Amino acid sequence: MNTPFWGPDWESLEQADPAIADILLGELGRLRDGLQLIASENFTSPAVLAALGSTLANKYAEGYPGRRFYPGCEFVDQAENLAAERAKDLFGAEHVNVQSHSGSSANLATYAAFAQPDDPVMALSLSHGGHLTHGSRVNFSGRWFTPIPYRVRRDTELIDYDEVRDLARLHRPRIILCGGTAYSRLIDYRIFREIADEIDAILWVDAAHFMGLVAGQAIPSPLPYADVVTATTHKTLRGPRGGMILCRDEHAKAIDRAVFPFSQGGPMMHSIAAKAVAFKEAASEEFAEYARRTVSNAGALAKALEETGMRAVTGGTDTHVAVLDLTPTGVNGADAERRCAAARILLTKNAIPFDTMPPRTPSGIRVGTAAIATQGFGPGEMDRIGRLIARAVTAERGTKRGNAVLADIADEVGEVVAAKPAYARGEAWSPDASR
Ligand SMILES: *Cc1c(COP(=O)(O)O)cnc(C)c1O
Repeated sequence: MNTPFWGPDWESLEQADPAIADILLGELGRLRDGLQLIASENFTSPAVLAALGSTLANKYAEGYPGRRFYPGCEFVDQAENLAAERAKDLFGAEHVNVQSHSGSSANLATYAAFAQPDDPVMALSLSHGGHLTHGSRVNFSGRWFTPIPYRVRRDTELIDYDEVRDLARLHRPRIILCGGTAYSRLIDYRIFREIADEIDAILWVDAAHFMGLVAGQAIPSPLPYADVVTATTHKTLRGPRGGMILCRDEHAKAIDRAVFPFSQGGPMMHSIAAKAVAFKEAASEEFAEYARRTVSNAGALAKALEETGMRAVTGGTDTHVAVLDLTPTGVNGADAERRCAAARILLTKNAIPFDTMPPRTPSGIRVGTAAIATQGFGPGEMDRIGRLIARAVTAERGTKRGNAVLADIADEVGEVVAAKPAYARGEAWSPDASR
């Protein structure tokens, strides 16, 4: 191919490093051949991958556009400005920092911008759907700050807003954080805003999981309520691995300084260019349709799984993710995860609220529908997928019969995904297009 673009070049990788080339092909096959239901994963577009595999990976650009510590930034400045402008338009944000290397880096910077060591910080408990960076003892957030975890209600499994208010009044945290990794319902930002205002706290929404659904207007935006919103760009937003921070103008300086120079060095300009591509894609009607379909898929899948005897935590979902309590099936989440993986169905074990089982073998699983929505699946296909999951969960791995059942399911999974392949063979991007 005679193109001015020095981009993804499969032949040269295959020649230079056949070992890595083989691994890449193996992973591509794994992605194509399985049902990808890990709630934090997705399939990026060829355009995003092209930007990631570009020469922007070479550039040192510490600082911000127009204020860099290195020369030669005229093109990467344009990429970063475009990424930030597109994100501002997409989300209606006053200020966006697109340099965060990941969701966790965005969160580290946000703590740094608003809190001092040992300050109390309130967030949803990890065991009730929060994230490691929301005050876990094994993470900087729990070590350097004083976590005040709030939980969900036992009866509804929804955030206990009364407890949030009581804890806020008692501890007067600097930051109130909401959002999580395994909370399937909409968050009432209005109540959080009221509580934050009452004690003069910063309201921070960690939208890492669901920012793509916000971009596609499939769920309400936290922007009108939050002082600051952090997100990943690679989950439902379907861009490159990375993070971002959106905030009001009054906090722009504090956020920018907390990212660079406080917690990061040179930004990953190839990733920022890829974020710009993803933001452009996310502004399209096609993306909005994907976001809505992702949500309907999750509702339909949760329902299908309930019909097989599992219990949907909170009774269902409003987003892309559902947590299922497997107690009625007598199988723990870890066994379910392993059995499903053996049948090429990728999902994760997950604790349920007030779980009585240990974290390594929790009572539940978590499924997400963003990736399968990207490859084209719709709610009408969730019954079949639900039945495949349920069969795998109850198939005893290790026994001859169980292994045969799992092999059968794997074959059917192969059929299901072959109808709507991710990274279809023959697409221009595909390294094995010519094979
Ligand atoms: C995924 C996630 C993060 C961390 O993102 P990484 O890119 O994995 O560091 C932070 N917060 C929440 C709520 C998440 O779901």
